[in-house]
Amino acid sequence: MAISFNNIKAVLFDLDGTLYIEDTLIGDIKGTLNHLRNKGVKVVYLTNNSSKTITQYKDKLEKLGIYNDSDIIYSSLDASIDYLNDNFNGCLVYPVCTNKVKEYLVNKGIKVSENADIVLLCFDRELNYEKLVKANYLIVKGAKYFATHPDITCPAKEVFEPDTGSFIKLLEASSNRLPDIIIGKPNTVMGEYLIKRLSVSPNEVLMVGDRLHTDIAFGVNNNFETALVMSGETDEKILKASNIKPSIVLQDANCLKHLI
Ligand SMILES: [Mg+2]
Repeated sequence: MAISFNNIKAVLFDLDGTLYIEDTLIGDIKGTLNHLRNKGVKVVYLTNNSSKTITQYKDKLEKLGIYNDSDIIYSSLDASIDYLNDNFNGCLVYPVCTNKVKEYLVNKGIKVSENADIVLLCFDRELNYEKLVKANYLIVKGAKYFATHPDITCPAKEVFEPDTGSFIKLLEASSNRLPDIIIGKPNTVMGEYLIKRLSVSPNEVLMVGDRLHTDIAFGVNNNFETALVMSGETDEKILKASNIKPSIVLQDANCLKHLI
């Protein structure tokens, strides 16, 4: 195949299923990332998972031995913060999130309150009934309602675990509302912020991921080049049945060494 990505200036990597599975790196990912950095390509770790802050992700990527100081980590949580600060600066926000994430939001200038005008639904691994009641109350009373990302489940060893998309369904049942905006992949908010931050044009960006309906759809929606990797969730059957078409299909992310 004569496809080449010579003009690519930034590669956005999904994490789980693309760079690693659980705590195991997929092949020579370290070597592949070094190859890209040596070529002057920006490495960006892009995740929808809003249960962790950048610092927590940095720790994880450092433990895996793949993080480099020139890399960027950007999540649906960071895109949500950028979006709130740009469009609703100073508004009171009720975040449904972990305590660490709440601290992070406050540090980033978000005004957190229980009497908020905005509900931000995150992947809250400390979710409890009190938080659900509060969020539901505000949503029914007409607060703006944002969710960090739409994933129904989060990959786990035996059985996939409920993620923010499942919380959205729960709150839909009780409040009869859906989020006004969902920030993360496959929507364009994250992509627009990244383009600005990286100072690149969309055709200079390659999105690499293992999920068609989030990673690849995100790339397509933002006019990025896209590479589907077969090291995670997608198999041939799912790929054939889908109308979301990546620019290229790769066995795993290490094939990029021959393309960039
Ligand atoms: Mg993945």
